[in-house]
Amino acid sequence: MPSKLPRNPRMSGDKAPQNALSTASPPSVVPHSWLDLSPDAFIGVDAGGRITSWSEGARALFGMPANQASGMELAALQPGQHPSLVALCLRPSSKAPARHYCQTFAGHKITVSARAEQVADGAVMLCLHQSGLSKKAQSALAEREAHLEMVMATVPDAMIEIDPKGTIQAFSAAAQRQFGYSAAEVVGKNVSMLMPEPYHAQHDQYLANYLLTGQARIIGIGRVVVGLKRDGSTFPMELTVGEVRTNERHFFIGFSRDITERQETRNRLQELQAELIHMSRFTALGEMASVLAHELNQPLAAVANYLKGGQKFLSGGKADALPMVSEALTRAMEQTLRAGEIIKNLRAFVARHETAKRAEPVVDLIEEASALALVGARSQNVHVSFDLAAALPDVMVDHVQVQQVLLNLIRNAMDAMQQSPERRLVIAARAVETDKVEISVSDTGSGIDAQVMQHLFQPFFTTKPEGMGVGLSISRTIIEAHGGRISAAAVATGGSVFRFTLPAAPRARRHVP
Ligand code: ADP
Repeated sequence: MPSKLPRNPRMSGDKAPQNALSTASPPSVVPHSWLDLSPDAFIGVDAGGRITSWSEGARALFGMPANQASGMELAALQPGQHPSLVALCLRPSSKAPARHYCQTFAGHKITVSARAEQVADGAVMLCLHQSGLSKKAQSALAEREAHLEMVMATVPDAMIEIDPKGTIQAFSAAAQRQFGYSAAEVVGKNVSMLMPEPYHAQHDQYLANYLLTGQARIIGIGRVVVGLKRDGSTFPMELTVGEVRTNERHFFIGFSRDITERQETRNRLQELQAELIHMSRFTALGEMASVLAHELNQPLAAVANYLKGGQKFLSGGKADALPMVSEALTRAMEQTLRAGEIIKNLRAFVARHETAKRAEPVVDLIEEASALALVGARSQNVHVSFDLAAALPDVMVDHVQVQQVLLNLIRNAMDAMQQSPERRLVIAARAVETDKVEISVSDTGSGIDAQVMQHLFQPFFTTKPEGMGVGLSISRTIIEAHGGRISAAAVATGGSVFRFTLPAAPRARRHVP
């Protein structure tokens, strides 16, 4: 709940309260708290344009408690570059109150008429009256504002209200904490300012598309997406958007939850990684070697026996030996094929061929994997951006596996950037070779020297003290099992880039961003 307004808001310096509006001169002896009885908003402003007192009416009108308003720039109560109330304070007038456009704490636009009275030393008392409303409507509105203020101030999720053009109408206290902007900085601006590229550039089109076709990507669905803070850093958030249509208004409210540190996300991440670890354990050298030795020993021993037998027949020099040699070679060949089959099965197991592949939108795969990989990235101050080509075809993949690959590449990139002064991660996707999509993850990290490059995808190759060295080899198995290729290269400006391809889904359909 918002903190209660002090009963007696005073001018700065805690001087004796003056009420210059009731009588211009000499200073009134009317107690300041009387001003609180008026539904009009009384706002004291010092010579520097800062708010020094704030009546109950002001609290109700703007939905902001006195302790928050006190010390604020008067200009913050109005949208735009040329706040008319500031101009009025410079030339105070109690006559012919003009209309002024203001915005409430929650970002709603209101129209007020205003009078200003010089108090002392350039300080001014403003009296604002909400225009065009009956007393009843005014108090109903004040009640609604107070209610909204309470909701906006207390809901733990960030609440952002936008109009159908994407213009921010309201920005809750939690949203201000989450994104690092004050309401005054964002209200009236396009909500895309809270998204990294390519969503930043695509959002207007997406909204227009939704209004035209009703085809929703997030509205009414809820997704894990990437948010952009004022300082340029990115963070994973769970976004749910609701739509409200009334006779007078049409707007969207987004609830966003920062899941950087969220336990559930960690669990989800752990789930994904558990698969990797499961495979890592399975492929742990000793286990793998004993399984392989056991499975392959039999056919290899048989091959050796058949070949030995064949050789014996030949060295005996008998004329009827040829059919028997031929028989031994046939058997040896069969056993060689069996050995090959075992290796193939093993690869199939590691790649989990049995899991279903489906047509998946590339953007969704990247978005979710990167949001998950960003968990815990806040402390590392990594700036993530996306460079996704328009109208990418869907890809035919097992999405859990491909997310593992992406997670692995992103995590490796973050590891590689730990000592870098500049930590930029770019995830890009483009169509290649008519029926493939190439996804790349590039970083500004340590780069890969030529020697390391040779062993990169080998199992158990690692340069990290705690590394297992299986991430890239499993990634390669997964990508190759999807019919794609994975490669790494050094970036000329420092850092490295990992690229992999995936097959486009048949009858590729255009994906709406
Ligand atoms: P691990 O991360 O456990 O070491 P990986 O198979 O994922 O196992 O990676 C193998 C090695 O490849 C790493 O130890 C590191 O030396 C190198 N490597 C992977 N990604 C990068 C990168 N983005 N930049 C520099 N080196 C990398």
